[in-house]
Amino acid sequence: MVKETTFYDILGVKPNCTQDELKKAYRKLALKYHPDKNPNEGEKFKQISMAYEVLSNPEKRELYDQGGEQAIKEGGSGGGGGGFSSPMDIFEMFMGGSLGGGRRRRERKGKDVVHQLTVSLEDLYRGTVKKLQLEKNVICDKCEGRGGKKGAAESCPGCRGTGMTVTVQQFGPGMIQQIQTVCSECRGQGSRINPKDRCKTCNGKKTVRDRKILEVHIDKGMIDQQKIVFNGEGDQEPGLEHGDIIIVLEEKPHPVFKRSGNNLIIRPYEIALVEALCGFRRPIKTLDDRDIIISAAPGEVMKHSDIKMVVGEGMPTYKDPFEKGNLIIVFSVKFPDVIPVDKVPAIEACLPPRPKVTIPENGEEVVLETMDPEKERAQNAYRQAHQEDEDQGPSRVQCATN
Ligand SMILES: [Zn+2]
Ligand SMILES: [Zn+2]
Repeated sequence: MVKETTFYDILGVKPNCTQDELKKAYRKLALKYHPDKNPNEGEKFKQISMAYEVLSNPEKRELYDQGGEQAIKEGGSGGGGGGFSSPMDIFEMFMGGSLGGGRRRRERKGKDVVHQLTVSLEDLYRGTVKKLQLEKNVICDKCEGRGGKKGAAESCPGCRGTGMTVTVQQFGPGMIQQIQTVCSECRGQGSRINPKDRCKTCNGKKTVRDRKILEVHIDKGMIDQQKIVFNGEGDQEPGLEHGDIIIVLEEKPHPVFKRSGNNLIIRPYEIALVEALCGFRRPIKTLDDRDIIISAAPGEVMKHSDIKMVVGEGMPTYKDPFEKGNLIIVFSVKFPDVIPVDKVPAIEACLPPRPKVTIPENGEEVVLETMDPEKERAQNAYRQAHQEDEDQGPSRVQCATN
């Protein structure tokens, strides 16, 4: 039993979720609420990061499960104190980590600009080029990233050159908390440009916002959550290596096909009873807009839940597009609700003979009614509760259905 589920709820996962599910949930939410995309959702972004930081660490997760957020704040047994990392650090570590061992050190690089790009299954099948308009910071041309005239930089008076300011907060008698924040005046740089010498173009910030149109090549066979990295196209900051632009693909659900690895699945594929018994020919529109015809010969019976496949009509393989998966079709046979009574003998004559059944002489005729499983469950639960009330005993009525 976990003590509280807030962190799990924030990420929209169950308390028994795996690390993989956790990562997936965090990635999705962090991209959605990232300040680059959603500048007004800073608080939400912070919560997501806190929740992920705790739950992704097995020791912290156990601590949280046992003692809730309070236990995390208190820091557990000698675990270097409580507290949380900055949401940006967590995010960058996450993206950096999953980009495959990019062992770059932070602070030596401008920020990565991460963008989610929704693509259809057709796009991923055929390959396409998408244009994306992005905003990023670029070094100011006018002052060449100095923020003002040459030699105009001075030590920031707000933080005395340290880049950080400390505020002391008192809450309750004797409870004092020191909060260290990045100096807002120099944005952590430690130096600033005297207002009168500031560059008019960037207002002393050294960088300006710039729009950029990016051409994203979606290759055949790319998958959901695949990353496309544009090295050095991210935020620029004076003295730092340029950040990257990272495009994360998000596959839109398709109304007909479901993708599973390189296979495409249609489930259920509904056919009428007459087609199931007497054969059929039917077209299926492929993702590249061809019509393929599937068929069953007359006399060949297709049963409900039969699974068939068309080899080579699945998704192309990434970087090997001529290698394709299969199209898997799970049939569902739609039965008629009634058939005319006078046709029954004719139908019966076509079918294999009935099995032999013996009816006992004193058998009782009963009525078959349609059962509503929901209703039945509710009634069972009610009966069970009622019975427990009555006998108060430890005996439990067992439910045989499920
Ligand atoms: Zn400038
Ligand atoms: Zn400062």
